[in-house]
Amino acid sequence: MSAPYVSRVPFESVHPKTLAVYCSDGRFTEAVEDLARHLGHPRIDTLTLPGGPALLNRWASDYLESEGFTKAARFLIESHHIEDVLLLAHAGCGYYHAKHSALGPDIAVEQQLKDLHFGAKELQTAYPHLRIHLYYVRPHGKTIEFEPILREG
Ligand SMILES: [Zn+2]
Repeated sequence: MSAPYVSRVPFESVHPKTLAVYCSDGRFTEAVEDLARHLGHPRIDTLTLPGGPALLNRWASDYLESEGFTKAARFLIESHHIEDVLLLAHAGCGYYHAKHSALGPDIAVEQQLKDLHFGAKELQTAYPHLRIHLYYVRPHGKTIEFEPILREG
């Protein structure tokens, strides 16, 4: 047997109090962690599937997939005592392209924003104590911008 690889990243036994819900698209992974650090959350729990927060909206995504994703979010929030949630949608998301491309890119963005607001409302209703932050993520050349989206209502 070969020797195990030991990561330089130290293990911390305390769970992070922040959960980031975003798309699996690896082009944004490090930037999301960077945003979280910038916001004062050095470590995060993550919940990722293609489309990210899209799956919190059972009316606009596959119902069973949405149910599983929402259950996973609830599990993390409850058992890890999450206090802050980041919901992030990104430009050029393949999930939305596959699902809504016939409607054009503007409609896809509109749907992404709807899904962010829907997910935020659902989680806020279930967990009034949560601080929920919404972002729309856009690459600009070699940089990645996180536009904060104001909560509805
Ligand atoms: Zn995506």
